Amino acid sequence: MTSTTLRMRPRRVAVFSLHTSPLEQPGTGDAGGMNVYVVRTAAQLAELGTEVEIFTRATSSEVPPVTELFPGVTVRNLVAGPFEGLDKNDLPAQLCTFASAVLRVEAHHDPGYYDVVHSHYWLSGQVGWLARERWGVPLVHTAHTLAKVKNAALAADDDPEPNVRVVGEQQVVSDADRLVANTGAEAGQLVDLYGADPAEVSTIPPGVDLNRFTPGDQETARDALGLPREALVLAFVGRIQPLKGPEVLLRSAAELLRRYPELRSRLLVLVVGGPSGNGTERPEALHRLAEELGITEVVRFLPPQSGDALVEVYRAADVVTVPSYNESFGLVALEAQACGTPVVAAAVGGLPVAVADGVSGLLVSGHDAAGWADALGTLTLRPERRRRLAAATTAHATSFSWKHTTEALLDTYTQAKMAFNARFREVSA
Ligand code: UDP
Repeated sequence: MTSTTLRMRPRRVAVFSLHTSPLEQPGTGDAGGMNVYVVRTAAQLAELGTEVEIFTRATSSEVPPVTELFPGVTVRNLVAGPFEGLDKNDLPAQLCTFASAVLRVEAHHDPGYYDVVHSHYWLSGQVGWLARERWGVPLVHTAHTLAKVKNAALAADDDPEPNVRVVGEQQVVSDADRLVANTGAEAGQLVDLYGADPAEVSTIPPGVDLNRFTPGDQETARDALGLPREALVLAFVGRIQPLKGPEVLLRSAAELLRRYPELRSRLLVLVVGGPSGNGTERPEALHRLAEELGITEVVRFLPPQSGDALVEVYRAADVVTVPSYNESFGLVALEAQACGTPVVAAAVGGLPVAVADGVSGLLVSGHDAAGWADALGTLTLRPERRRRLAAATTAHATSFSWKHTTEALLDTYTQAKMAFNARFREVSA
């Protein structure tokens, strides 16, 4: 890195995470991989000497206006609309009030206090766009999911993303100085579907906390969770919503039992996570589906778990499944592999990057129970195949880390700042 590039490294980044707070427990409601991403990259940025202020919307009168998450990472809980009762689709009407709360905070600082704005998800991008204009700093944007991509791959009972998002997302993509995509496929979608300039898209894979998610003894993990040591455990971890396809696991487990009735005394399906968005009815619907399929005795549900508790879940599972209809990356797949557990995932979005097909897990095309039962049958009935994949999981997972992600983000911020300043000089010359 040249001395100019080093000098241009941001000292302080304003991170916008409007619709979900980094203080929330992921795995339910609107909190998921994006929250983990924001928290982990903020922690790493602070370690690398860049301060982070995260702006989010307060959803309780209990939270103080400012919270220190880690040394060098502050969360500003801005009052913007009622604390409770708003869902994600109500938030476009709160953008103005959130934006004015952000601008009020900045008004207390000297000009140039923040070097870069990094917005997460299109709602934050809209406010980031305004902040960029007011503060004269570059806007870096991560979409996390794209409405056009999501709408093209909906589960049968899912609702399409509204037009307000499609239009709003397009505006942010067009106006941001840099876009961060999780994978090359997402970078291609930004270019092909949203007309992004390829030169302004950085592909930066997310990471996994390799200190927390480590392999461990399966029996100890099963004892801790009260699961039988001899069971064949297939796990689903994530928000319970149509997009994540948890019913694919239930249907394919029923198909497995139809093909191999002798598995009934050993098979155990573990579903971990809470309801989310238009999946609010989901846990009940999944219970009903298990009943209809005649497999209630093999399915167990666990509420959302902390990251530390999830380590035991991943270690206890023989296979972790990610049957999503769309997934911009799929942190759960990486976490499971970091714990030494192979993953069977849908061949969609970022999952072909998160899972090395045939090496650390299997990718399945489509979502029909027969195809999924084939893949799960291969791994449940052939323990030596499962063990071979398990042996390759940690090597695959360790090629991803939040440190790598954050170093690449810092480079992107620096490039964005240099390009922004050069353009500014051109305009004022
Ligand atoms: N998660 C969690 N507790 C749960 C379920 C999930 O902490 O009970 C976390 C999980 O560890 C992962 C994130 O939520 O880091 C989900 O991220 P992923 O990319 O798999 O899905 P997303 O939520 O972004 O759709």
